[in-house]
Amino acid sequence: MKSVMIDLDETICSPAYLKEVNKYLKSNYKYEEIDTYFVEDIIPEDKREQFLDYFYKNVNVYDHAEIFPRAIEVIENLSKHYEIYIVSAFVDKRRVFESGIMAQYKYHWILKNLPFIDPKKIIFTGSKHKVLCDIKIDDKVSNLKGYGETKLLLDHMHNRKYSFEELNSLGIKRVQDWNQIEAELLGGIENDIS
Ligand SMILES: [Mg+2]
Repeated sequence: MKSVMIDLDETICSPAYLKEVNKYLKSNYKYEEIDTYFVEDIIPEDKREQFLDYFYKNVNVYDHAEIFPRAIEVIENLSKHYEIYIVSAFVDKRRVFESGIMAQYKYHWILKNLPFIDPKKIIFTGSKHKVLCDIKIDDKVSNLKGYGETKLLLDHMHNRKYSFEELNSLGIKRVQDWNQIEAELLGGIENDIS
């Protein structure tokens, strides 16, 4: 059985970072307007430290995480044919101590929303390129580097700077949504069965 590494943030769900940043700045930014990987980079530099203090004391961005359409259903289908690993980073270099709480938030969210995933196959690491899964799904190009026979990049504003040629040279294929992921990874299998 082949193994699949699936990223959590902005691949399975979108944690409510932007909602919290908007609340803090009293702004109304939309995801389509943000092309930085970290949403909080839109906070003016002189207010960022203060925001992080507030954030780690008061906010669980997974309380209002939005699940991408069909993500859970497709992962459950994938789990019948593949060994699934949910792999997520949690260390915030700016707040190494405080960011430990993120591992707990993420772990509980995964247990609640992906109950069919073996808890022993939840991996928290920022060194995803070291994970030896056959298939990898992520929204960040650097996480797809290293071993892997199929690498799928979920399309987002922040990764559109990578051209088709660049991705192709890294063995990465851009996918638009979970319908396409399902077609890529289960299309052939379903044809084999029928
Ligand atoms: Mg991600």
